[in-house]
Amino acid sequence: MTLLDGKATSLAIQEELRLEVLERLKIGQDRPHLAAIIVGDDPASRAYVGHKIKACERVGFDSSLIELPLNIREDELIREVEALNNDVNVDGFIVQLPLPEHMNEQTILQAIHPDKDVDGFHPIHAGNLSLGLPSFIPATPAGIIELLERYDIQTSGKHAVIIGRSSIVGTPLALLLSRNASRGNCTVTLCHSRTQDLPSITRQADILIAAIGKPHFVTGDMIKPGAVVIDVGINRILDDSKKSGSRLTGDVDYQDAMQVASAITPVPGGVGPMTIAMLLKSTLQASA
Ligand code: NAD
Repeated sequence: MTLLDGKATSLAIQEELRLEVLERLKIGQDRPHLAAIIVGDDPASRAYVGHKIKACERVGFDSSLIELPLNIREDELIREVEALNNDVNVDGFIVQLPLPEHMNEQTILQAIHPDKDVDGFHPIHAGNLSLGLPSFIPATPAGIIELLERYDIQTSGKHAVIIGRSSIVGTPLALLLSRNASRGNCTVTLCHSRTQDLPSITRQADILIAAIGKPHFVTGDMIKPGAVVIDVGINRILDDSKKSGSRLTGDVDYQDAMQVASAITPVPGGVGPMTIAMLLKSTLQASA
């Protein structure tokens, strides 16, 4: 069984990016600059943004964090977005999701200028991706493709089953895996909460991707022997053996799955770090 080590792969990509930044500085170019807006003080969102800022430091990017109160109005947040759109020193930026309930997420995401939308959530990017045109690609599905690439996992002609149809993971991943490109050419089945008899479908998967948000949802009996399993889920569960009283776990029952799968991503240390690496890659692309 191969452990698809997203942490090590992410660090290798970050080292490549660090060297590329040095090359750019040598020829008089600026450091790429990623900015992040965070609204409120949700601990998980703060941790994710913190990881992204730390990764910027590691690769030699400039970074800025704009922290806004939970009760900020939508029009005030849009003004912050527009300020970043107009800031010539910022190459790309993200608005950390989820946003508070009084905000319309789409309104905010569509206010980001597509040239700076390194998360690739703007409808222009979603449209370009579906047409096979160049675009910023959401970092999590891009990270999964990169991981398959770096571990030389063959995808052509394989059946990929994705559980979860979100616009940031499942749907763009379905497009990427089915396109006529490297680590594409899969036959893709996109499953969701209304899918009937899910196990009979997942058992057909050569590549099974879980992006549901339910701890240990995918059990060993749902996996075809020898399948490649990609676990996107990040769930916090109680664990008395930890000092904090909790730990992170995926959507896949890892102990169960490793008996059946030929390769699997751990949680933590799988898809999460790859997401960060791909966000940095997009920022470098935005700064070119
Ligand atoms: P989401 O939370 O927006 O939606 C969940 C999806 O799961 C929906 O499409 C729904 O139809 C499907 N679903 C729910 N119950 C189901 C069931 N019983 N059977 C089949 N499908 C079912 O999805 P998301 O934002 O893609 O997040 C999914 C998980 O991935 C979460 O745990 C999230 O924290 C994690 N995530 C991780 C990363 C990362 O970098 N590793 C990035 C994004 C999301």
